[in-house]
Amino acid sequence: MAKSTPFFTSLKDLFAFLELPEPSTQVANSRFSFFVSRHFASKMEKGNPNDPLLREILPTEEENRIVEGFCDDPVGDGKSEKEPGILQKYKGRVLIEPTFTCSLHCRFCFRRAEPKRSLENFTNRLDAWLSKTVDIHEVILSGGDPMMLPKPKLDELFDMILSKEQVKTVRIHTRTPVTYPQIFDAEFKGSIFPTLQKVAEKKKLVVVVHVDHPNELDDASAKVFQNLQKLNATLLNQSTLLKGINDSGAVLTELSFKLFSQGVLPYYLHQLDHATGVAHFEISDAEALKLVEEVRLGVPGYLVPRLVREIAGEGSKTPIVHP
Ligand SMILES: *Cc1c(COP(=O)(O)O)cnc(C)c1O
Ligand code: SF4
Repeated sequence: MAKSTPFFTSLKDLFAFLELPEPSTQVANSRFSFFVSRHFASKMEKGNPNDPLLREILPTEEENRIVEGFCDDPVGDGKSEKEPGILQKYKGRVLIEPTFTCSLHCRFCFRRAEPKRSLENFTNRLDAWLSKTVDIHEVILSGGDPMMLPKPKLDELFDMILSKEQVKTVRIHTRTPVTYPQIFDAEFKGSIFPTLQKVAEKKKLVVVVHVDHPNELDDASAKVFQNLQKLNATLLNQSTLLKGINDSGAVLTELSFKLFSQGVLPYYLHQLDHATGVAHFEISDAEALKLVEEVRLGVPGYLVPRLVREIAGEGSKTPIVHP
């Protein structure tokens, strides 16, 4: 029975859980399936078809619209890929994709159309690459969601990274504190907490969580962050601006305060990357700037996220400023 897994793979089951009438049209998107953790779904309001968290993961007909300028590799990852799953765009930092698995499928994901490459032998390939690329001081685990890697694979990967003298910082980009917090629980079978403890003993540990709406934060995420703080981890958040979900000064202000109450500082607020099928989530730069101004007027400076966009070929994320 579906109940035995912590994930919803069928919309029908999710709608029954949310006490919503089944959608009349089934949106088929064979390239990017529906998927969400039960924990994330438990934070949606029952009976509300417009719940912001539901909208983050609900496939819609709009995804099938072809819009000029939206493509399968919007940020030029293909060109920066040194090896399957190993990307270097910025000085000193390498971003790795050791898995393509996530704990939910965010409909606006810029990697949604990314081709699935073979990640065979990943740890050995990264080991060899780092040995010949000695100016890397930070390894960023991304994906997919790196915390979804099977534990033996994750341990093997970390053991290799920790053995590298040149690597001072290990950064983890993950959504699991709000989607699958169980895995941080020391009592959970297959808990990743001992692994993170090991990392924090040897390197500077940075965890960049991805939260788009304040409703995603709950007691379980607070506990995860509390435990990570015991490891002296630096805790940051990145969000993507999404029409109809968080394009409101009040919502973004609440998000900043709620993150801070759980020990996390806002880091990046991304303008949407132009991946195929996400155009309906986009808001203009002028609107985005207005929203950030609104946040700035209501929160201390350290709770204002940096509004950025990723432009292929640039040496860093690009700040969005008034023209
Ligand atoms: C965003 C990104 C990083 C990290 O950039 P920071 O500005 O250091 O957060 C690193 N590598 C790639 C490929 C990225 O897309
Ligand atoms: S968790 Fe990240 S990589 Fe996975 S679907 Fe969501 S945005 Fe994309």
